[in-house]
Amino acid sequence: MRFLITAGPTREPIDPVRFLSNRSSGKMGYAIAEAAIESRHEVVLISGPVAVARPHGAAVIPVSTSEEMFEAVQAQVRNCDLLVMCAAVADYKPVAVFTKKLKKRDAKLSLELIPTRDILSSLPKTRKYFVVGFAAETESIETNARKKLLKKNCDIIVANDARIGMESDENEVEIYFRGGEKKGIPRASKKIIARELVKIFEKYFGKRLTKKTR
Ligand code: C5P
Repeated sequence: MRFLITAGPTREPIDPVRFLSNRSSGKMGYAIAEAAIESRHEVVLISGPVAVARPHGAAVIPVSTSEEMFEAVQAQVRNCDLLVMCAAVADYKPVAVFTKKLKKRDAKLSLELIPTRDILSSLPKTRKYFVVGFAAETESIETNARKKLLKKNCDIIVANDARIGMESDENEVEIYFRGGEKKGIPRASKKIIARELVKIFEKYFGKRLTKKTR
């Protein structure tokens, strides 16, 4: 299978030296890329700024902002069999970027934010590839994950408690399938979870892919 994987955070500039971002380390997405390569799949990895070593054998496309990630996914997605949107794309960005460094003043400062373009929601409803979304939640994980599965038109949503997975080497995930099924992978290293996920993707999408491409 040809995997297109996104990983890491995005950075939304405020001024030339500041940005809005989040605590994503990129470790989960990179581990999925490595596990897919181990299983002899082709991997293109679209990566936000991270401090993780490049997986050997993956074609890496580095991006910084949500807009760059959006464009990179749009450019690559038609060539893949499976898009794994593991990146923690920023949900908001500043309305305007200051061209000069903001000076500190003795007064409140408000930043006006607008939603970023949602990459998953922008994908066509009818498509030849499959889509896996991620949901890092701090509450009502199942309800939020199932809502995202439908709203973002994904085939699978992999959900986790953000307090366990963020920046950590370990994770614990619940997988929600389009047909309503649910599967859990108990707490383990991200490398082990990634191998399990790749096996699940192979099993779930393998047969369906031959039907789609016929
Ligand atoms: O809505 P939320 O950000 O929690 O959704 C998470 C899922 O949506 C992840 O798979 C993430 O990569 C994706 N996402 C996206 N475009 C955005 C924000 C999130 O595709 N602008």
